[in-house]
Amino acid sequence: MSDSQNHKTYTTIPGTQFGRLTAEDLKRLVTIADRYAPPLIKITGGQRLSFLGLAPEKLDALKKELNIPAKPPHSRNRLHNIQACPGSQWCKYGAGDSLAMGEALDKLVLDRPLPYKVKVGISGCRMCCCESWVRDVGLVAQKKGWCFIFGGNAGGRPRIGDVVAENLSDNEAVALIEKCLNLYTEKAAPKSRSARFMEKFGIDALKESILG
Ligand code: SF4
Repeated sequence: MSDSQNHKTYTTIPGTQFGRLTAEDLKRLVTIADRYAPPLIKITGGQRLSFLGLAPEKLDALKKELNIPAKPPHSRNRLHNIQACPGSQWCKYGAGDSLAMGEALDKLVLDRPLPYKVKVGISGCRMCCCESWVRDVGLVAQKKGWCFIFGGNAGGRPRIGDVVAENLSDNEAVALIEKCLNLYTEKAAPKSRSARFMEKFGIDALKESILG
């Protein structure tokens, strides 16, 4: 591998769910950072921590040390890209508990594998720090409950997501997201992001299928 390719190697540190870190995590990371001396340590857009620019042999050793588990069965039936803001537990503006919602969505096991990557942004108020309008699954807490948005994307063909329902309790929001994602796994073509799926399927048909 060439030097330029070496500089693109990276690994993501597991265990920083929604960007949360304990003092123990930080101590362990400092020990690892000292030992492996990566050229760059960076917090990713997905609220994880990555070590970049390591030589491949160091990268392999690091992965072994981190003991990154093999993907569990049915891992494609689960959400892997959940971002959550501090929410009502920790932010004075919070109307909803984003972190608890993130934990609930992290436990969902869908009926079928997801067609493609699904990014989730959970914001505890309308300031929308987790950019929920441009995530596949977006949640924004309002005074009367959660607003659930589906089909947003911030990539090459950006799209503002569609509002599926508002004023949802925590349990209602989780149940509706599960229904919506199960429909998406059933109807969407392989490798179709939710934004492209929604352009074809339409918000009215989606509401008809999953509400009521
Ligand atoms: S979205 Fe609202 S509750 Fe969440 S961190 Fe931002 S300001 Fe706080």
